[in-house]
Amino acid sequence: MQVGIALPLPVESTYSYAVPDAWQDLVQIGSMVLVPVRDRRMSGVVTRFEKKAEDPPFRIRPILEVLDAEPVMDQALLDLTRWIAQYYVCGWGEAIRAALPAGIQRREFSRIHLVDEAATLWDRLPDGLLAYFARHDNTATPRGLRMAGLRISRRDLLKAQRQGIVRIESKLEKPRVRPQFVKHVRFVPPFDTIASLKDLKLQLRGVRQRALLDVLIVCLASQETEPALKDVLARAQATSSSFSTLVHRGMVSVIEKERIRLPSWLTPLAAASSKPPDYHPAQQAALETLKAAVEAQSYRTFLLHGVTGSGKTEVYMAALQHALKRNRTGIILVPEISLTPQTVDRFRGRFGDQVAIMHSRMSRGERYDIWRQVRSGHYKIVVGTRSAILAPLDNIGLIVVDEEHDMSYKQQNPAPRYHGRDVAVVRAKMADAVCVLGSATPALESLANVQSGKYQLLSLPERVPIPGYGAAPLPRVWVVDMSREEYQGRRTANLSARLADGIRTRLANREQVILLQNRRGFAPVFQCRECGFVPECQDCSVSVTYHKAYGELRCHYCGLARLPITRCPLCNSDQFRKLGAGTQRIEEELARNFPSARILRLDTDSTRQSRAHFDILSAFGRGEADLLIGTQMVAKGLDFSRVSLVGVVNSDIGLRLPDFRSEERIFQLLMQVAGRAGRAELGGEVILQTRQPDHPAFDHLIRHDFDQFAAYLLKQRKALSYPPYGRVVGVVFKGPNEEATAELADKWLEILKCTLPASIQILGPQAASVVRVKNQYRYHMLLKSPQGFFQLQGLLRQATRQAGQPAEGYQVFIDVDSYGLL
Ligand code: ADP
Ligand code: ZN
Ligand code: ZN
Repeated sequence: MQVGIALPLPVESTYSYAVPDAWQDLVQIGSMVLVPVRDRRMSGVVTRFEKKAEDPPFRIRPILEVLDAEPVMDQALLDLTRWIAQYYVCGWGEAIRAALPAGIQRREFSRIHLVDEAATLWDRLPDGLLAYFARHDNTATPRGLRMAGLRISRRDLLKAQRQGIVRIESKLEKPRVRPQFVKHVRFVPPFDTIASLKDLKLQLRGVRQRALLDVLIVCLASQETEPALKDVLARAQATSSSFSTLVHRGMVSVIEKERIRLPSWLTPLAAASSKPPDYHPAQQAALETLKAAVEAQSYRTFLLHGVTGSGKTEVYMAALQHALKRNRTGIILVPEISLTPQTVDRFRGRFGDQVAIMHSRMSRGERYDIWRQVRSGHYKIVVGTRSAILAPLDNIGLIVVDEEHDMSYKQQNPAPRYHGRDVAVVRAKMADAVCVLGSATPALESLANVQSGKYQLLSLPERVPIPGYGAAPLPRVWVVDMSREEYQGRRTANLSARLADGIRTRLANREQVILLQNRRGFAPVFQCRECGFVPECQDCSVSVTYHKAYGELRCHYCGLARLPITRCPLCNSDQFRKLGAGTQRIEEELARNFPSARILRLDTDSTRQSRAHFDILSAFGRGEADLLIGTQMVAKGLDFSRVSLVGVVNSDIGLRLPDFRSEERIFQLLMQVAGRAGRAELGGEVILQTRQPDHPAFDHLIRHDFDQFAAYLLKQRKALSYPPYGRVVGVVFKGPNEEATAELADKWLEILKCTLPASIQILGPQAASVVRVKNQYRYHMLLKSPQGFFQLQGLLRQATRQAGQPAEGYQVFIDVDSYGLL
């Protein structure tokens, strides 16, 4: 038998291998196997059975091992990953890897031993290699060498091995995740009743053994038929050796049971299930449409456009209920930072333990366990972040993408550089399922799909009505011109008089305030007062941010911390200016102006630990603080009923980024954070501070008018043929030497000029706005293709083949529908 296997390599095709007779019945489509690839071993997934060719052009090698015969994915997921590989121009095996939990694929691990220390034979020895070997007992790993900046190609290594200079030792890595088993006590007859255990106890003399029996009796009495051994020992204060004696005498036995690892923040399920509310008329209308679509069991995509607090989540849950009734399953995607305990509790509160949570912040073991449980059909619903769209869920009837405009749905690195929302639509189509994209500020791409009739629009134009009040009013929005405030001398550093007054009133009324400053740290610019020198990161071409709380300068690109320079390296002055404001500076300013206020800060610095984000938001939700200051993390997902004021310290951050999506993004962020104000009975107010009050965005924000602003942006996009009126593909080049990186980009330019038709515009190549990150130089270009040009991916493949492998250490990424470039 011969099979096609997808390997985690950036290649389009699958590889053919023979299956030894002994495994003919074992190997299935979707099985994971170990195969030889050139001189290495790799794990891959069986994608099809093949006919043996009469006389194959090359030798078909046999697979080496069956790692997991139970398919790691079914045909539907194979088809979906194949689509991803084709559309996003990457390897099928790479797309498959994105769908599998980290750590189940096996890799070969090699160690290089220096044999001939003189190494006179080897002419292409990189500088410093011998010294490295000398420091490391004459052995090295390829990774270790790379980390030390010693780049050496595999070909040269093999050559050195042939010449007897080095010996390469290859070992297969152990699987990095495996199920966890825990010992449990099992009662054996006749000692499986309370009476018999009591009897037994009278015959035992050891104090610990008697204590153990006491605990076992309590377990039986409370219906704990298989208590965990560890708990029993702890409760009896006994050691495992006293327990062993009982086992040896046949009084109890021990079994191993798998323990499913769950994240600590996943609170045990409350018994009571929440009930759906009485739907308000707009919800009802949306629901009827969705219900009919779910029952029709054929593909449709809906755009559910509703302001924050209009009841979209309730609509998702109701649609899900209908899908379950039809015996189908559902996936709910949420952006990274809105997967909070509150979101999780809402779904688990309604659907109980039918809900699996797949979060990128879970540990490797936790992700592995939940993935296997989903694969075995244990769950009906998956709630998760981007990669949950590739969950091994069967029989899908509904896919929801909440906050569908959110950038975090686009994977940047590594390949596949897929967009979770777009994959959701394709998966729904392949599964004859209904897809619901929800947002208060839909992506322009989705709006265009509504206009062209691909998606159907459902609207929830108002907030959920409050009993006795009617529809909750949208917050009042004020725009404060900061340059004018400055001129009139009314400004205390970063807070306008209006914002400071607003905070004061809320504090007096015991209401809460959220402040957005979309920049972390204390001061983004740290500058010598004498000569104007601004320190840069030593590995990146970007200035570092001053973090007062840690007394450090930090690079926001590579995350490296650097101690503040106490003296300017140019003029020796010790006087520095700290310009601009990050969240830490605003926090300090608030503390100074409102000494009695309780303040919490939410940004990636304050949430290093995986739970911190949840803890800060829950503390704020419980009213343990008055002010919450943070980056865009404060804009998402939570429903705080006591927040009556939202302030944006600097609305202009990001407006001038060299990215055609920057205006769309800022508008979405401001509208989203504004939606946090006044969700319940309290009226809400929003204060936007800016130096560009005439920017058209503000006019629309004041009127809560998303549609008009979107129309304005769409017009601009159309004029320039940017998405949604055309497609963009980024091509990114990276390498350790700037000149060579630029040359690589130029070589691609020549190739693309020949491969692509004239209708495709090529912008660049040019240096990225931060050209060096972690000592890697970055160049990029952007391809703009007209709508409906379906050959683009094929031509990009062709260009890739033509360009061949870049030199060791250099990389080329293709990023279809790229975000965050130019
Ligand atoms: P969105 O997802 O659009 O932000 P939610 O579904 O979270 O809106 O609804 C906002 C709040 O209103 C939630 O607390 C929710 O429980 C409540 N809610 C939603 N629909 C109704 C309804 N029909 N009646 C009463 N409360 C509702
Ligand atoms: Zn200086
Ligand atoms: Zn850096």
